[in-house]
Amino acid sequence: MQSMQEYIEEAEKALLHTYNRYQIVLDKGQGVHLYDLEGKQYLDFCAGIAVFALGYHNERYNDALKAQIDKLIHTSNYYYNAPAIEAAKKLKKVSGMDRVFFTNSGAEAVEGAIKAARKYAYLKDGSYDHEIIAMEHSFHGRTFGALSVTGNPKYREAFQPMIGNIRFARMNDFDSVLEQVRDKTCAIIFETVQGEGGIYPAEESFMKQVKALCEEKDILLILDEIQCGMGRTGEMFAWQRYGVKPDIMTTAKALGCGVPVGAFLMTEKVSESSLVSGDHGTTYGGNPLAATAINIVLDLFEENHIIDNVKEVGDYLGKKLDELAGRYDCIVGRRGVGLMQGLVFDRPVGGIITRALSKGLILINAGTDIIRFVPPLVITKEDVDEMAAILESCLEE
Ligand SMILES: *Cc1c(COP(=O)(O)O)cnc(C)c1O
Repeated sequence: MQSMQEYIEEAEKALLHTYNRYQIVLDKGQGVHLYDLEGKQYLDFCAGIAVFALGYHNERYNDALKAQIDKLIHTSNYYYNAPAIEAAKKLKKVSGMDRVFFTNSGAEAVEGAIKAARKYAYLKDGSYDHEIIAMEHSFHGRTFGALSVTGNPKYREAFQPMIGNIRFARMNDFDSVLEQVRDKTCAIIFETVQGEGGIYPAEESFMKQVKALCEEKDILLILDEIQCGMGRTGEMFAWQRYGVKPDIMTTAKALGCGVPVGAFLMTEKVSESSLVSGDHGTTYGGNPLAATAINIVLDLFEENHIIDNVKEVGDYLGKKLDELAGRYDCIVGRRGVGLMQGLVFDRPVGGIITRALSKGLILINAGTDIIRFVPPLVITKEDVDEMAAILESCLEE
């Protein structure tokens, strides 16, 4: 077998260099642990960026996928398939939304959400120049529509022009939203808890003010739940904490727990006057294999009381992180909800993350100064203790 180092050298010759990867080749997983090719064990507080909620090597999940592989993997959307119908019904139930479109990724779900909002506005007044308000520090994905509403100028810079008529406001600053509203505003999009941009949860008052504004002016509220949804904050979808329902919602990441799948969902009000036959499509979206992943994920969420675990262990993680923040001057704060937390440092965190990795702990950043904690949703308090001990030993050094 090739050594880990040989693989890494080959990777650097063959793969496009769009990531600065950590110097390990991951090989297999079990529960909340990952193993590299040399057999070294890592406690995983990243979960493939908020994806693998159920923990690795979940037998029920694996068996469901294997059975579907032997039956039927793909059909195309010209025909119905039972797993997709089942998945749509279940998603409607847990979200309270009315219509589902399955995609292959988060970015693609955001694209669909933007198209649905523009079509809705177009059908209202017949004009093409509608505007969307997005937030600074947001992240919605790397395709052109999603990138256009992503509030990080560095990601957009080299790829101008973006899609037009996007205005940026500041999260939790309602006045800044009001400043950007025009007659042509058709949608306001934000993450209920900003992930990539630094773990900024929306405040309840902000959510309610934006919702009221949207209702008053028939602007569609699009909530991106790709990272913060699927139980991560202790509710199935983060907006359910506030009782502020979006008109359109996106989900992905933990939705398939590793099988690439996403979705955008809308209310009946939007679907009655938006995308119709011929307006939108995808070859793979909601194929039997992807839909089977969604079905088993939602079943296991319920059977294993995943959300109860998030509430309990999430609170505990928050306390543990607060304790660390109290003991180390280099930590200036904590932000987050449930099992989506960030520790804010007064310096870049890259060195700490690399040190943690060498000690068998996988962490990721969110921006340069924030360590992000998005573990599998099945972690226990003991796992949190172990993580905190390793992290503390890295801080001591
Ligand atoms: C990851 C992410 C996306 C993009 O999802 P991809 O599957 O990588 O395209 C969009 N929005 C949010 C909030 C995300 O965290």
